[in-house]
Amino acid sequence: MTSNGDVFSAPLAAAAKYAQIWLDEIPNRGINPKIDVDQVRAAFGDVLPKVGVDAAEVIERLGTLGEPGLMGMGSGRFFGWVIGGTMPAPLAADWLISTWDQNSGAPLLTPTVVTLEEIAGEWLLEILGLPKTAVVGFPTGAQMANFGGLIAGRGEVLARVGWDVNVQGLFGAPRIRVLVNEERHVTIDTSLRYLGLGEPEAIAADDQGRIQISALKAALESGSGPSLLALQAGNIHSGSFEPFREAIELAHQHGAWVHVDGAFGLWALASPTLRPLLDGIELADSWATDAHKTLNVPYDCGVSIVNNAGALRRAFGVEASYLPSERDVKLWPSEKVAELSRRGRGVTVWAALLALGKDGVIDLVDGLVKNAKFLASELAKIPGCRVLNDVVFTQVSFAFENDERTEEVGAALIADHSIWISGSHWADQKILRISVSNWSTSAEDCAATILAVRRAAG
Ligand SMILES: *Cc1c(COP(=O)(O)O)cnc(C)c1O
Repeated sequence: MTSNGDVFSAPLAAAAKYAQIWLDEIPNRGINPKIDVDQVRAAFGDVLPKVGVDAAEVIERLGTLGEPGLMGMGSGRFFGWVIGGTMPAPLAADWLISTWDQNSGAPLLTPTVVTLEEIAGEWLLEILGLPKTAVVGFPTGAQMANFGGLIAGRGEVLARVGWDVNVQGLFGAPRIRVLVNEERHVTIDTSLRYLGLGEPEAIAADDQGRIQISALKAALESGSGPSLLALQAGNIHSGSFEPFREAIELAHQHGAWVHVDGAFGLWALASPTLRPLLDGIELADSWATDAHKTLNVPYDCGVSIVNNAGALRRAFGVEASYLPSERDVKLWPSEKVAELSRRGRGVTVWAALLALGKDGVIDLVDGLVKNAKFLASELAKIPGCRVLNDVVFTQVSFAFENDERTEEVGAALIADHSIWISGSHWADQKILRISVSNWSTSAEDCAATILAVRRAAG
């Protein structure tokens, strides 16, 4: 009898070979993709063959033809958007999770995966100093974690006024007021769209993108009824944090559910030096973050944290003839996120945290911030370059004399291939933005980055 292993060994060996080649090349490879989508299509061909191709050959093609169309996101000199790389332990854990191929929606299906996700959740609450009563789930990303917190809040604030959204729906429901920081991330708006809550009321922010307490107070006092407030930990342009304690206490006085989008910034809580900047954040009702950004696990892995198990079960609980009706009081993985059958992606978080240890998480977060501060101070020395934000976390927004010059430097940087910095628009001008999100960024990477900006600006 042949074992399954025989038919898997050649394609898996090919995958391991190309993974190793990629990881070896990353530090020296140009960051940019070498070919565009049309060239990728031409290289692979787009006609589905009548007769299938041998599995190992499929992977050979993927490894050789795919590489030129990849972006060097794992490089220590990649600072685009807010992305993050992957550390060794979570990457290898992810391979094993794929190989084990467990449907990870329920404990009876896969005790190992479900338990490791539970442990990862407990470790996260400990590291982030969030309430031990909170429920942690692992959706695909912060988009779905924002959705998770807000749908729990939607059901809860309606229940408090005697409206069961699951039975009665939203037509004719008491109107829910949604208040948001005017500089919120776009995924708050898409979440509200999924939830049928319409356009939110934008509350004015200060020059670092922090919600203004006076404006929030006025807005809360100008209305009544069920309400949601979305705050953020980590503005994408400045990295700034809200005045959480004041904002959350005010919102709670008005009966609002408070959700915090901390896609990358929630991790500041892990650092004893940064934690005071987020004072009071633990008072919120729900928090969203990503493990695939600051924690550097492979895509995709978000983290949804909701301090109200009942509201979460109202949102995501399922009853079906083929599922046991007697539930443990503990929620199933499928009751924590908007997925029934799901990948055990939270195991990558368990692997990352175990490999780092408590001290390693602190060093990871503090290291990113140290690099961001170094880059900001060196950028400020480049003639014509202005750093626009107080660098409190991992984000550095900067600009040159005028929009045209900033665009010119941005284009020159893209053409340089040695680093990647994204453009954006903030504080009424075109900007360039560095997000230090990769665990492997070294002092040499930072020095090379400053040299590249000097070249581009010169
Ligand atoms: C990246 C990001 C999101 C969305 O996260 P995904 O992982 O892309 O779903 C939401 N909010 C902020 C602040 C982000 O940086």
